[in-house]
Amino acid sequence: MWIAGASRGGSGDRLDVVDPASGEVIDGVPVATADDVDAAVQSARDAFAGWAATDVAKRAKALNALADAAEAEKDELVALLTREQGKPTLEANGEFAHFLAGLRYYAQAATKQRGVHQELPSQFGRAYGMVVRRPLGVVGAITPWNFPLTLLANKLGPALATGNTVVAKPAETTPLTTLRIAELATRAGLPDGVFNVVTGGPETGQALVDHDVVRRIAFTGQTSTGQSIMAAAGPKLKHVSLELGGSDPTIVMPDADLDAAVKTIQIGRYWNCGQACLAPKRAFVHTDVYEQFVEALTGRVGRYEPGPGATPAEKPKIRIGPLHTAAQRDVLVAQLADATDRGAEVLVGGEAIDGDGHFFAPAVVTGVPTDSRLATEEVFGPVLPIWEVEDLDQAIAMANDTPYGLGSSIWTTDARAIDRAIREIDAGMTWVNQLHYGYDEMPFGGTKQSGFGREHGLEALDEYVELKSAVVGGLS
Ligand code: NAD
Repeated sequence: MWIAGASRGGSGDRLDVVDPASGEVIDGVPVATADDVDAAVQSARDAFAGWAATDVAKRAKALNALADAAEAEKDELVALLTREQGKPTLEANGEFAHFLAGLRYYAQAATKQRGVHQELPSQFGRAYGMVVRRPLGVVGAITPWNFPLTLLANKLGPALATGNTVVAKPAETTPLTTLRIAELATRAGLPDGVFNVVTGGPETGQALVDHDVVRRIAFTGQTSTGQSIMAAAGPKLKHVSLELGGSDPTIVMPDADLDAAVKTIQIGRYWNCGQACLAPKRAFVHTDVYEQFVEALTGRVGRYEPGPGATPAEKPKIRIGPLHTAAQRDVLVAQLADATDRGAEVLVGGEAIDGDGHFFAPAVVTGVPTDSRLATEEVFGPVLPIWEVEDLDQAIAMANDTPYGLGSSIWTTDARAIDRAIREIDAGMTWVNQLHYGYDEMPFGGTKQSGFGREHGLEALDEYVELKSAVVGGLS
């Protein structure tokens, strides 16, 4: 753990951290107990008044110093990310770059905020109104294992920039990069207690949610976990943001640039071994281009060569890493079997690969019943079901036939179709002729069972403050 600027062992059990490519235990971390969580929260509380009163330019400088310190250790951090998460080095590099950009974005953004000041109507004498933003206090940041670094930056950046202090709880299977970042933050000059880390699983997360001093929980993870966090936070009236699961639709119309659509949908669905919240997870392709699309995508997906993320990919191989855990792979296999048992056809891949790591052959599937698990549940692995649609009406109706509402996309050059997709698809984001990618500048988050609250963009800063109105009179 990292508490009050120092490493701390726990008083309870320990957890093994396993390399998903080999099954080998690479490290171990404490399971933080409620007492350990309390120590971390108290440290964050002690640091809060000083940090909140620190000039915003100095807070921005500290965030930049953290980004610089991490960048100086890029190779080690990227390798550590691959070891604990499993993703190929190329993708770990991409995540690391996004992590740095996220911190630097909020360092900049924090210094550009503008307040509201206005002259008030004069029934009680001349007065000025001001709206000031006040940090909330101690924020609990709970992250999953699929993007341990970027999802941390999404919370740490706006929380620290606005003057809050943080206790982070990384996923039990990927705690190492978060711990290293906390250590680097202290070395880079962040005051002790401003950023703390507790390690452990659901019970540790629960203890953080339950702690009375924690004012806000910024959570990314499964919908079911988000539901229990909201239930626990409710009676204490804590602020929560819930970035949850997704089953993003992508629609391909006949006037699309088909080559670009195939290549981009492939990247979007299969990067991170299909374990991304934002990803085209259900494809709806117009009948005029359906055969072409399926054939082109299947050919490309068949060229993947699953293998350890740390091995450099040689052209023309396309590297894809292991699934993160064996349990994750078991769920995927069961979801696929549920569809094939009811008539779906696997055009390529679809098998668990024997060996020590949790490898799986990336798959393309057609003929998937719309009430099967592949259609109704979040599929967190490299499998894309494709449906043939007659027109945009059918595509949008099928796109919206899901409990989720995170991302979505459409491939077309028709302005009316673009307009309809943006207005009619129930999702937090719609990309047009673009990869499902979270830009630092754009607010991002879900609707329906994908949660609420926004990360990224200037809007995320508002999630970490409370507005206070002040009226200043006695001036005449
Ligand atoms: P998860 O919900 O199992 O775990 C996420 C974190 O919550 C972990 O740190 C875990 O230890 C902790 N946790 C578990 N139970 C808890 C409880 N009762 N109280 C407090 N903390 C608890 O999620 P996961 O399997 O690690 O992550 C994958 C999921 O995350 C997928 O559903 C994916 O779509 C989603 N996700 C969403 C986004 C987004 O921005 N919307 C981004 C990435 C991942």
